[in-house]
Amino acid sequence: MNIHEYQAKAVLREFGVPVPRGVPAFSVEEALKGADELGGPVWVVKAQIHAGGRGKAGGVKVVKSIDDVKKESARILGSTLVTHQTGPQGKKVNRLYIEEGSAIDREFYLSALIDRETSRVAFVVSTEGGMDIEEVAHKTPEKILTFSVDPATGIMPHHGRRVAQTLKLTGDLAKQVEVILPKLYAAFTGKDMSLLEINPLVVTKDNKLICLDAKVGFDDNALYRHPDIVALRDLSEEDEKETEASKFDLNYIALDGTIGCMVNGAGLAMATMDIIRLYGMAPANFLDVGGSATKEKVTAAFKIITSDPNVKGILVNIFGGIMKCDVIAEGVVAAVKEIGLKVPLVVRLEGTNVDLGKKIIAESKLNVTSGDDLDDAAQKIVKAVKEAA
Ligand code: ADP
Ligand code: MG
Repeated sequence: MNIHEYQAKAVLREFGVPVPRGVPAFSVEEALKGADELGGPVWVVKAQIHAGGRGKAGGVKVVKSIDDVKKESARILGSTLVTHQTGPQGKKVNRLYIEEGSAIDREFYLSALIDRETSRVAFVVSTEGGMDIEEVAHKTPEKILTFSVDPATGIMPHHGRRVAQTLKLTGDLAKQVEVILPKLYAAFTGKDMSLLEINPLVVTKDNKLICLDAKVGFDDNALYRHPDIVALRDLSEEDEKETEASKFDLNYIALDGTIGCMVNGAGLAMATMDIIRLYGMAPANFLDVGGSATKEKVTAAFKIITSDPNVKGILVNIFGGIMKCDVIAEGVVAAVKEIGLKVPLVVRLEGTNVDLGKKIIAESKLNVTSGDDLDDAAQKIVKAVKEAA
């Protein structure tokens, strides 16, 4: 789960991390009231969307008068911002953050994430702040420092010294690095974050180290122990289909291909996506209905798949173990009866109660093609989609 910049900064503030003062605003009036409270003389009007690259897209404006706060707020609020992270359709701006302007001397990059190789929290630090870290990693990898933190000891003073050295900070600024790092680490682990990206981390003209931007994501599996974080969820930023899927406890991720997949088990789902690619098309989603899906769950999954206008064909691939093939068949039939079927559907069933499952589908008189095995089923759906096009 992701949250907005202003929310991320509030979380960091709880842990004593230095961030600029700011006020969220849902209207131009609120923006003006916020600007008045902050007092100026420099304000920054920042679009709040779950995507970075706002600055380059015109979604972050430094202004020097209340008049300009009004002008920029009115321009940005309600507009659709297209950044390199939003995709070409962009994201509509429904919230603003009015922040006090900082006099920036230098901009750095700092992030923390889970490193699956070491099973530790890893930090990535670079002098090249404000830029795409992927680009820095590609062109000048020597400018990036990465290190992982031993969970038994947490952040140690030597980590701080290495970061200060990388950022070429000495004296009091080096001390500020040593103070800020354990706080960021405490926020990361305390709130079960999966990503914490500060880009830029800046040194101000009066030699203060502060976080000017904050992008935070949380581990969904740990959200149950953070009701305060769950309360920050902004559903308007999330894929509607993914939100619907989470209500039914389905593992669903929208993708940009044309073949909708309904599969049980993450491994089988991955294999199904691979084989669709092998035969020249792309999956429209990842969907694992899980090992113990009910008819209702299967019906919900089928509805989510068919609600995606990009879906030009559906491949159901089920290996019945604990999950029984007849339950899947009943779910599919119920969903099709309720909402109809406008695209080709290929079903491959194998395992527990497979004969019963096939019988339910055959007797439903629905226009369903049956696949003998995964290879056959994938070829059939690709062919059917090509013919229908
Ligand atoms: P994004 O990463 O989405 O472009 P940022 O919050 O990083 O958005 O803002 C882009 C740039 O705007 C920053 O790199 C910084 O130069 C400037 N900026 C952001 N917030 C402030 C602020 N409070 N004071 C001064 N400049 C700022
Ligand atoms: Mg940024």
